[in-house]
Amino acid sequence: MRPGSDITDVLNPTADNGLGLPHPPVYQSVADRLRHAIHIGAYLPGDLLPSERVLAEQAGVSRVTIREAVRVLQAEGYLATRRGARGGPVLLANAEAVEVVIARLRQREEEFEALFEFREVIECAAARLAASRRTDEDIARARSAIEDMRLSEDIATFRRADSLFHLALADASRNRRIRDAVEESRDVMFLALDAIDLTLTKATSVPHHKRILKAVVARQPEAASRAMAGHIENTRTAFHVLLDGGS
Ligand SMILES: [Zn+2]
Repeated sequence: MRPGSDITDVLNPTADNGLGLPHPPVYQSVADRLRHAIHIGAYLPGDLLPSERVLAEQAGVSRVTIREAVRVLQAEGYLATRRGARGGPVLLANAEAVEVVIARLRQREEEFEALFEFREVIECAAARLAASRRTDEDIARARSAIEDMRLSEDIATFRRADSLFHLALADASRNRRIRDAVEESRDVMFLALDAIDLTLTKATSVPHHKRILKAVVARQPEAASRAMAGHIENTRTAFHVLLDGGS
């Protein structure tokens, strides 16, 4: 073993990893966090990102690092720069044609299949725990998310409301690991949700979410879990219909 190298070095981001490979630069991990925030609906298309100074404070990094991270997301097509006094990085809508998104989904079909299985396990557990641990505040958040979903007129707003609902329930589970897992699965779903038909989805999604919430309000863990399983199964079916070209 090299001198000074022990197990605790794993936790030290500046430690030499022993392979002579550089660690990923800090701006990459900031870019990852920003991309994740976009994927779970923290910003909507047309939204101006917080100022460099605010982002730097939030992330605990320098403004130069934020600038680098923003450049990465610009290159990936997530952000554009708005000029002028009220300028800065603006979130762009996904400009890809639905067919392009579907083609990419087909390439990742197995990964999505695994994601649906994972979501069923984790979100049913979240719903079950939420039914016994929820507060009035959790209920209010979930209810207002359903209302946002019902009123949404574009897919980005719908996606954000859907995220808010699932995260409100995950918070209500009072289990940090479950909450993190739900958030992570929202991130992966981002791509799939961009290709869905809004009118159709709203028609089935709103009653599904209401059914889940009703069981959570009534403190019925098994009913909440069953309603969540039904909702995820429905989403999985819609996903396959999408990939099969609507047949
Ligand atoms: Zn949902």
